[in-house]
This record gives sequence, C-alpha cells and structure tokens, in this order.
Amino acid sequence: RKSVVRITTGSQALDELLGGGIETLSITEAFGEFRSGKTQLAHTLCVSTQLPLSMRGGNGKVAYIDTEGTFRPDRIVPIAERFGLDAGAVLDNIIYARAYTYEHQYNLLLGLAAKMSEEPFRLLIVDSVIALFRVDFTGRGELAERQQKLAQMLSRLTKIAEEFNVAVYMTNQVIADPGGGVFISDPKKPAGGHVLAHAATIRLMFRKGKGEQRICKVFDAPNLPENEAVFQITPGGISD
Ligand code: ADP
Ligand code: MG
Repeated sequence: RKSVVRITTGSQALDELLGGGIETLSITEAFGEFRSGKTQLAHTLCVSTQLPLSMRGGNGKVAYIDTEGTFRPDRIVPIAERFGLDAGAVLDNIIYARAYTYEHQYNLLLGLAAKMSEEPFRLLIVDSVIALFRVDFTGRGELAERQQKLAQMLSRLTKIAEEFNVAVYMTNQVIADPGGGVFISDPKKPAGGHVLAHAATIRLMFRKGKGEQRICKVFDAPNLPENEAVFQITPGGISD
C-alpha cells in the first residue's frame, strides 16, 4: 500500500486548508479567473515537491505539461532560493513538455508514465488541462467526442496518480466578468462539466483579492470542509 504524501504550497494558511498540502494519489484541480495564481502555485510546487519530507516536500521529481506556454524557468530561480535549494539542480529535476494538441497532450502522458516507472516522481502538473480541448473541438456536434476524449485523459491522470504515488495538479481557467467579478459560467460547472468535476479528487476555486492577495476556496472535497484561505503571490512564490 502506498501512503499519501502532502506537499507544501508555500503558504501555511493554504496548507492548513488542504489538510497539510497537495496530496499524492489524488488529482487537485485549481479553477478560477485569469491571474488568480493557478500557474504561480504550479511554479511553487515545482520547487517544494523537491524538498525533503522533513521540510514538507515530496523528495521527488516533477513533470510539467504546459499547454499555454506560461512556464517560466526564470521564475523557478527565486523560488528555489527562498526554499534554500540550488536553482540549477531544481530545474534539472523538472521534466518539461509543451503540448500543442489534445492528442499530443495525451501522448506526453504515456511517455511520462514510462519515465515515472524508472525515476521517483512526486508531482505531475497539467497547466491547463482543457485549453487544447477548447481549441481542437469547437463545434457543437463535437461536444460528445470532446467529453469522451477528456474522460480518457482524466482517467489516465488518475492512473498515474495511483500507480506512481504522484500528486496531479491541474488547472482550469474560468472566464470572469471583468465588471462585476461574477462568473459567466457557473463556478460549480466550469468548462469540462461533469466529466472534469468527477475526475478531480479535490477542487479549489481561486480568485483575486486586494493587490497580490489571492483567495482559495475548497469545492467538493470529500474529506475537507468548504473553507477559504488567503495567500499571497510573492517573488519567492506562494506565501502567507
Ligand atoms: P493564472 O495562472 O491563474 O492565470 P498566474 O498564476 O499566472 O495566474 O498569476 C499571475 C499573477 O501572479 C500576476 O498577476 C502577478 O500578480 C503575480 N506574479 C507573477 N510573478 C510574480 C512575481 N515575480 N512576484 C510577485 N507576483 C508575481
Ligand atoms: Mg495560468
């Protein structure tokens, strides 16, 4: 039996909200508006996953699938320094791949699974999980096919989480109304619909607060209360 490892987010408030951090053997979905901190948390987790268990890390490597071209190796440097790690070594332990189509994204997962059977990984990031599905399946008639392919992708992610004791962190952007801060799509039903909602073990909604302040709310997590936590985005990554 594999035991759950909880990886620190860099914010004590956020860790407490999550019962200790982002969990292995699970999928965590972060959904929310543009600039709410989803990708910045991904960058912070790239570093904290490499910390020893005694420092609330995962003592493992990171796989990063980027569908939007928003990964910044330069961002990793100050975050590694903040956690007292060598930035070059941290970057060497992040296996990065840019995906251009949903099929490419799926094939990358197959390749990563092979790598994970050889080396100790603790985190898989997919930022963002459905952006390419929105591009590749546009017509109304394609909705059923899109949901089927999405379900296939998500079942692959679940399998990876369970087989390799990895934390899967995936993001999902939701369109916000720039005027009122009201979600055009129901935040309970973000793009991806029920297929996505059922695959994620823990769903987190991110939104902007004042300045660099961000708010995270727990949605539909089986063993966590539906509370909120406030965190900050700093040069050293996610923090209190
Ligand atoms: P999302 O992925 O949810 O669209 P991001 O994670 O990219 O959003 O967050 C973007 C925000 O992160 C920016 O608006 C900025 O406030 C903050 N940010 C990015 N880089 C830094 C940095 N080096 N120092 C402080 N804040 C930063
Ligand atoms: Mg992003």
